[in-house]
Amino acid sequence: MPSDTVTHYKSTRSSSITSTFSSALTSGYAPDGGLFVPNLIPRFSEVELEGMKGLQFDDLAYAVLRPFVPASEIPDDDLKGIIASAFSLFHSTDRVELSQPDASGGNLVSELFHGPTFCFKDFGLQLLTGFISYFTPSQGEEKRTLILSTTGDTGPAALAGVKHCANPNLNAMCFYPAGQISDFQRRQMTSLLASPNIVVVEFEGSGDDMDAPIKSLQSDAAFMQKTGLAGVNSYNIGRPLAQMVHYFWTVFRALENPTNKEKNVSKINIVIPTGAMGNITACYLSKLSGLQIRHISAATNVNDVTFRTFNNGDLSRNPVMHMTLSDAINIQVPYNMERILYYKSGGDEDRVKGWMEGVYNDGKVVVEEAFVKIIQEEFKSERVTDEELKETMKKYKIEFGYYADPHTCVAIKCAEKLGWEGPDTVIMSTASPCKFKESVVTCLGEEGWKDYYENVCPEYAKEVPAGETEDKFAKAEGGDLEQSQKAWEKRTREIIVERFF
Ligand SMILES: *Cc1c(COP(=O)(O)O)cnc(C)c1O
Repeated sequence: MPSDTVTHYKSTRSSSITSTFSSALTSGYAPDGGLFVPNLIPRFSEVELEGMKGLQFDDLAYAVLRPFVPASEIPDDDLKGIIASAFSLFHSTDRVELSQPDASGGNLVSELFHGPTFCFKDFGLQLLTGFISYFTPSQGEEKRTLILSTTGDTGPAALAGVKHCANPNLNAMCFYPAGQISDFQRRQMTSLLASPNIVVVEFEGSGDDMDAPIKSLQSDAAFMQKTGLAGVNSYNIGRPLAQMVHYFWTVFRALENPTNKEKNVSKINIVIPTGAMGNITACYLSKLSGLQIRHISAATNVNDVTFRTFNNGDLSRNPVMHMTLSDAINIQVPYNMERILYYKSGGDEDRVKGWMEGVYNDGKVVVEEAFVKIIQEEFKSERVTDEELKETMKKYKIEFGYYADPHTCVAIKCAEKLGWEGPDTVIMSTASPCKFKESVVTCLGEEGWKDYYENVCPEYAKEVPAGETEDKFAKAEGGDLEQSQKAWEKRTREIIVERFF
């Protein structure tokens, strides 16, 4: 274990705002609006990394996370227990499976979708809900309410976690935009409504229209205190931390690839379909901890803030959200950019604050050219259109007989645009095609879907029951967004008190 271990967490915008691990996870944002980061990054030595290579996934999770979780808050055996429980719902004993669709020497694909809800978000959320449940005694007065909005995958993973914890004091309220998630994802959530701990709300608006009401609730200290409100979108540091483990596993396996060994490859390139940048933050934390990663590339769709920032410093919010075939990465403000800017600026809190306030308040920020160069030493990005996504899904199906989900296709195309060929590049495959019938049909036709469903899709992924929510938030009359958001916030407060207290 590294000699320097994390003692506490702090805000990206001020070192004087500090927190325990537990209260960072059970709140979400830092009180000054910044994001929590560990007080230092433990660094694994080469010898330690070598020793970690042989570990089973769950033991690896313990080895990676132990130095980030103060032992005074979670003792060894309890941490092991939380990890074992979190991964017990996975369908693969390895948790992650590495494949190489183009066996003649193509990129590796790290399949992160063998968890209970068929998406990489299970890695962050099964653990995060486990941690939060650990900090919420099931006997006793104190209750906790997880609050989150989803573009389709966060919701199912978080609710599955809450259900699995079966802690009567742990509740969850989840929002999804009407008509903008797949039918499968909707049922993954609404089929859990029999549980009194779970509320699911459909709202009329685009992906991040519920972010403002949620952030506003979280700035109401009295309400937070009263309801034990915890935000579990990926601004919650628990998610990037938990997601580091799949990078360690992936890079260790990739280094063992015969071609990579033959060529003495010592570092791996990683390509990630990127939305709110939680997963790319996890990757970067892993790199900073010593993991053998060369470059990290953010694959975006036409909602391209991250692409613009990494290429020319234009960190302006997208004025409109474009509908795409890869809706889980439709984003206007990627909140974890704050953590990347924090680390790349050497922890310059004032600059981070300036940049982020610019994005949130004015919607417009340009990062200096010299700083963009510094970002580019480690980060790349390419932007992929729906047309390119479609070609990629077809190509992988026809040439290699491999079904890649729409988001994975964005990353595959990104690697191609960068000229990153071969197994020293790994594509992070963030979801299973089973969640995205609508997009798969658009790309491959009904025939393509039928072949996937009958021959590849595992039986257990076909068993999501039906369900409907009666909680629906409509737009205010005239359709004014701010007006609607005020009304939604009010109704959210009422529902939390009515149903959970
Ligand atoms: C959430 C999600 C992403 C984006 O992850 P971020 O951590 O938000 O960048 C990518 N692919 C899929 C399938 C997702 O659900």
